[in-house]
Amino acid sequence: MSPIHAERVLAIGAGLSGLATARALSGRGLAVTVLEAKDRVAEPWRARHPALRLNIHRKFAGLPGQPAPRADGIYLKRDTVVRHLERYAAQLDAPIHFGTEVTEIVRVADGWQVTATTGVYRAAHIVIATGRESLPHIPDWPGRKTFEGELLHVGDLGDVSRFDGKRVLVVGAGNSGTDALNHLAAHRPKAVMVSVRNGPAIVPRSIFGYPIHGLARLFAALPVKVTDPAFKLTERLLLGDLRRHGLTSHPEGGSTRLLRDGVTFAIDDGFVAALKSGRFRIVPQIERLDGSRVVLNDGTSREVDVIIAATGYRTRLEPLLGHLGVLDENGRPIHAMGERDPDNPGLWFTGFKPIFTGFFDASGIAAKRIASGIEVDVAEASARRDNGGARARLVGRSSMRMRRPTAKDRRSPVARRITTNPHAGGSPARASKSRTEWMD
Ligand SMILES: Cc1cc2nc3c(=O)[nH]c(=O)nc-3n(C[C@H](O)[C@H](O)[C@H](O)COP(=O)(O)OP(=O)(O)OC[C@H]3O[C@@H](n4cnc5c(N)ncnc54)[C@H](O)[C@@H]3O)c2cc1C
Repeated sequence: MSPIHAERVLAIGAGLSGLATARALSGRGLAVTVLEAKDRVAEPWRARHPALRLNIHRKFAGLPGQPAPRADGIYLKRDTVVRHLERYAAQLDAPIHFGTEVTEIVRVADGWQVTATTGVYRAAHIVIATGRESLPHIPDWPGRKTFEGELLHVGDLGDVSRFDGKRVLVVGAGNSGTDALNHLAAHRPKAVMVSVRNGPAIVPRSIFGYPIHGLARLFAALPVKVTDPAFKLTERLLLGDLRRHGLTSHPEGGSTRLLRDGVTFAIDDGFVAALKSGRFRIVPQIERLDGSRVVLNDGTSREVDVIIAATGYRTRLEPLLGHLGVLDENGRPIHAMGERDPDNPGLWFTGFKPIFTGFFDASGIAAKRIASGIEVDVAEASARRDNGGARARLVGRSSMRMRRPTAKDRRSPVARRITTNPHAGGSPARASKSRTEWMD
C-alpha cells in the first residue's frame, strides 16, 4: 500500500519554475513540498547540447533571490545554468522528493490528490511546473521507418561537430532550429538544408556589439502594434531581405507570436550569414522519407544523412490534467503564469508562458503571484475555520445555557440574543464580548 502524504502545497517539477515558486512560498512561511521525477535538478539542461548558451541577457537570468553568475559574460553557458540551479535548490528551505514522478492528478473534496511513483499525496494547492519542453515532438512523416540516415530531435543535438562532412536537413527554424543552425554554421557539414513552414521572427544577437536582449524590459513595456513592425524593420535593416534567400516570415509579427502564441524569437548568430553565402539552403517542406532520400512537396528529392527535427515540444500535461478542461488546443495551460483559475481553486501553473525577458524572469513573476494567491487563500480558510470554531463554541455554550439557564442568564438581553440566534451579534469580536458579559 502506497503511503499517503498530506501537504499544504505541492510543487510538481524542480526546474527553475518549481524552485522559484517553492522559494516564494517558504519565504512567506507556507509549507511546500517539491516532487521531481528525476534524481537531481536541472536534468533538462544537462541533456541539452554542450555548446548551448542562454540567448537571454545575464541580467534576466537570475532567479528570485539569486542573481545569475557573472563568470560567462553576457550569455550563460549550459553548465553554468546547471550549477546556478543546483545552488538554488541547495538553498531552498523546502523538501524536494526526487525520483517521484507524478502520474495522476484528481480533484478531491478539500483539494487535490496526486499519485506519484512513490506514493499518494494530498494537498490543498498544487503548482504544476513540469515544463513546456517535456516531450520532444517529431512529425510522423510518411516513410519515416524507411529512412536510412539518422533522424533526431533537436533536443538530442549533442556535439554538432559530429555532423562534419554530412548532409544535414534541419526541419524548422524557430528558436531551437536557429540555435542548431548557428552552431552548424561554425562547423563543417557537407551541406545544410533548412525546411520551414513559416519562417521565424529572427533578430541578430547584437546590434553594433550591443546585445539586443538587454532591451527586453523596454520591448515588454511597448504595445505589440509598435514592437511587431519594429522587429520586422530591425530584421530587414540588419539581416537584409531574407525572402531573396528563400526564408519567408510568418504573416504575424514576432511580438504577437511570442505573447499570444508562445512562440519565441529566433536569434541569429551565424545562420543568416551561412544562408546568404549559399552554404545553407532553404528547401520546401517534407512530403515523405524514402530510404536515403527525402521527398519534398515540390516533387524534388534530396540525399540526406541526418535529419534534425526542430519541430517543437509538447507539455505532457494532457494525460495529467486534460480531464479538467484547463488546457488549450496545444496542451498548454490556459492560466499559464500563476493566474488564479476560478473554476479550479488550488491549481496553479508556472513555466508555460514565454515573455520578452525569458523564463528565469517569468518564473519570479509567476512565483510571486502564486505565493500571494495561496497566502490569501490560506488566510481566508483559516479565518473561516476560526469563525466556524467561534460559532461552534457559541452554539455549544448557548445550548448548555439553554439546558441550565440561571436567573441572571434570563435577565441578560445579550444572552437571550445568543441563545436564540448564534449568528446574532455579527463579528467574532462582538460574539466573544457577548460571551464575556454572559460569563460575568
Ligand atoms: C534548447 C533550449 C534552449 C533554451 N534556452 C533558453 C534561454 O536561453 N532562456 C530562457 O529563458 N529559456 C530557454 N529555454 C526554455 C527553458 O529551458 C525552459 O522553458 C525553462 O527551463 C523552464 O523551466 P521549468 O522549470 O518551467 O521547466 P523544466 O526546466 O523543463 O523543468 C521541469 C521539471 O519538472 C520535472 N517533471 C516533469 N514532469 C514531471 C512529473 N510528471 N512529475 C514530477 N516531475 C516532473 C522535470 O523532470 C523537470 O525537472 C530553452 C529551452 C530549450 C529547449
